[in-house]
Amino acid sequence: MEKKELLRALPKVDELLNEEVVKMSLDKAMRIFVIESLRESIDKYRKEILDGKISEFSKQDILQCFDNILKHKNDPNLKSVINATGVIIHTNLGRSLLCKEAALNVLRVAENYNNLEYNLEGGQRGSRYEHVEDLIVKITGAEAAMVVNNNAAAVMLVLSTLCKEKQAVVSRGQLVEIGGSFRIPDVMSFSGAELIEVGTTNRTHLYDYENNINENTGVLLKVHTSNFKIMGFTEEVGIEELVELGCKYKIPVVEDIGSGVLIDFSKYGFTHEPTVQESIRKGIDVVTFSGDKMLGGPQAGIIAGKKEYIDRIKKNQLTRALRIDKMTLAALEGTLKFYLDEKEAVKHLPTLYMILSSKEEHKKRAHKLKNKLQKEINNINFTIDQDFSMVGGGSMPTERIQTYVIKAKCDEITPEQMELKLRKNSTPIIVRVFNGEIIMDLRTIKDSDFEVIVEAFRNITV
Ligand SMILES: *Cc1c(COP(=O)(O)O)cnc(C)c1O
Repeated sequence: MEKKELLRALPKVDELLNEEVVKMSLDKAMRIFVIESLRESIDKYRKEILDGKISEFSKQDILQCFDNILKHKNDPNLKSVINATGVIIHTNLGRSLLCKEAALNVLRVAENYNNLEYNLEGGQRGSRYEHVEDLIVKITGAEAAMVVNNNAAAVMLVLSTLCKEKQAVVSRGQLVEIGGSFRIPDVMSFSGAELIEVGTTNRTHLYDYENNINENTGVLLKVHTSNFKIMGFTEEVGIEELVELGCKYKIPVVEDIGSGVLIDFSKYGFTHEPTVQESIRKGIDVVTFSGDKMLGGPQAGIIAGKKEYIDRIKKNQLTRALRIDKMTLAALEGTLKFYLDEKEAVKHLPTLYMILSSKEEHKKRAHKLKNKLQKEINNINFTIDQDFSMVGGGSMPTERIQTYVIKAKCDEITPEQMELKLRKNSTPIIVRVFNGEIIMDLRTIKDSDFEVIVEAFRNITV
């Protein structure tokens, strides 16, 4: 048939709506999705005709195409994926996983009315921040605490409260950019603080801070350079010295600690990562950190420190714009609770578990998954190898955690094609491609992912 005739033979949407299969689909799917799917399948055939790709088609073909399109119309855009990259706090893949208890808390609070801003003791209006403040105080040793949307918001709120139209003195070596082009200097300028950079990239001394203090100084700011390390000839001013200097001039000392580390990782054989508790113990006035990095909870920004400053921060009108919602609070409470007993935190919180679990454990799991895969799939060659996982999220950048990976290679398709197919799986599987092979790190794969991975590989070459 000629193109013209073929085009004329294309059915109309209204016509297809009378087809039995389409009528039946209206019982299961929203009408708007059914119509969109019909239109898209007709359009697809129109394009193929115009491109000269087909010389014939039946109505059945179009209905089949419609069915395939409709099947995926209900899929959420934000879906769960399998992280086989070995990057534990993967910012593109949603950072930390919530523990079961935190996730259940979210569900409970989302499906029901709750006491978000209602004081059940007095039967009157309450504060949404109370639900987690006591926990944060207990865990960190701070006098008071407050939570907002994320750590960037926390930094902004603190500076806007303590340093508006004043100067924040910060070491040049700590002016970091964090993924997604979050730049400390930019956030500071939004808050209305003026940035005074002191020292050099690799060395800053106490006198660099002191020489820049004047009647207009609002805060002394320390930023934890969590996502890079300056090696060699370096010097940073410690918290104790900064606190002493702040005391002398009556200027608050603020620290953006980035990753909210609440346990001492050196106990588990890692290089020491400064903890929130240490900063508080050393007398820092205000510290801010993320909820969804090393802390292993939901996206949140936690502010902890001296009561006089936290009280002022709570009164800032900006808190209204940066406030944390009920679902996040539910998740945060469910996460923080475990830190009351470090053993429980390490056992329950997926982020901590993934960082601290032994490579031997992942070796066993690698063998288990590999056997499942190889038993069913013959045309792909699976091997097990040692490799390194990363903490990610700009945390502990030099730490390489020993792990086990499964590598996959196939003569029929390239690793790039395999990667694409896994990524397009109904539950997408995100893998690395290296040296002509697919690499899947067991450390970030959950046991419950195993079946999905086997099923995806089953479909890869058919
Ligand atoms: C990650 C990070 C931030 C930003 O935190 P978010 O919770 O992503 O907003 C700010 N400062 C430092 C030092 C960080 O590491």
